[in-house]
Amino acid sequence: MKAFTSVSPRSLPDAVTALSRARQQGQHAIIVGGGSDALALIKERLIAPDLVVRLTGIRQLDGIARDSNGLTIGGETTLAAMARHDELRRAYGVLAQAAESVATPQIRNAGTLAGNLAQRPWCWYYRNGFTCFKNGGNTCYSAAGENQFNAIFGGGPSFIVHPSDTAPALVALDATFRIVGPKGERTVPAAQFFTLPTVNPARENALEDDEVLTSIHVPAAKAGMRSLYHKVMDREAWTHAIVSAAAVLRMDGNVCRDARIVLGGVAPIPWRLTEVEKLLVGQTMNDALIDRAAAASTTGARPLRNNAYKVPLVQAVVGRALTDLRA
Ligand SMILES: Cc1cc2nc3c(=O)[nH]c(=O)nc-3n(C[C@H](O)[C@H](O)[C@H](O)COP(=O)(O)OP(=O)(O)OC[C@H]3O[C@@H](n4cnc5c(N)ncnc54)[C@H](O)[C@@H]3O)c2cc1C
Repeated sequence: MKAFTSVSPRSLPDAVTALSRARQQGQHAIIVGGGSDALALIKERLIAPDLVVRLTGIRQLDGIARDSNGLTIGGETTLAAMARHDELRRAYGVLAQAAESVATPQIRNAGTLAGNLAQRPWCWYYRNGFTCFKNGGNTCYSAAGENQFNAIFGGGPSFIVHPSDTAPALVALDATFRIVGPKGERTVPAAQFFTLPTVNPARENALEDDEVLTSIHVPAAKAGMRSLYHKVMDREAWTHAIVSAAAVLRMDGNVCRDARIVLGGVAPIPWRLTEVEKLLVGQTMNDALIDRAAAASTTGARPLRNNAYKVPLVQAVVGRALTDLRA
């Protein structure tokens, strides 16, 4: 493993300066939050930074603040803090449940929201050092190789699935992401933060190398809003979703007034089911409607050789999410 320098700036401007100065000097600098993914990438020799910029000491980036427009969650807030936050649990169940579903208590205690959203893919080929698109190559080995856990939607030329549990929840909640870099600040809707491999097969999001994801804003919960997160894994704990669904409905009695259904574990980005949402809006939630919505949830799916099992799984997870929310 190559030796690297680690710095712990006390302010956001100091962190941005450290990142851009390193870049100007031709050094490879990376950001680290809890380090549960980034340090593994270093140990596995998938990345070899000269400089590691730790953000967890910057108080301004940690914590959950409320205002009249909703909640702002600092990028360095841990997943454990999110999972136990009263208002998140009460008004934004989908996000608290997604945070609580990540990995293990140890990883949730160290792992941050920004790190969860910017974590790299867990495709077997990438993690084992194959020179695929994610490792500087120009091939996706899973397209014709081992692809049990890969994409059934939105794949090509890379077929990774986006690994974050909180990402589908934040897209379903219409969150916005604040990003700060040497050129200033910008705000990006959650749905535009994650990018398909057709944009750049080496990357999963809109961040530049010297930009920091500083906070995430979720709009105020509307009257009648109900939400939940369902996650299916190939073992009982400690792992990513093979299929998940984040569902946010605004109900008026039994009638659905607004809907967001976003899948995880099935596409290179959180995969929004806009046609299913349209089918639900304005309708009375009953068994027949839920069956139609579940069946429609896999329209356009293109399974690879070994992952067609995800098609009925998606339908079951969407059906279960809607049934539970109706209740
Ligand atoms: C055994 C195991 C099981 C796991 N299971 C799950 C799971 O079930 N669900 C799930 O979603 N994840 C899972 N993970 C992945 C991940 O470790 C956690 O999601 C964790 O939240 C990552 O946060 P972190 O702060 O440790 O990230 P870090 O390791 O610090 O960073 C991850 C990546 O994000 C970048 N980054 C970090 N902070 C910022 C920032 N503020 N701005 C810009 N870029 C940033 C880093 O450069 C790095 O590339 C698992 C990991 C392990 C090891």
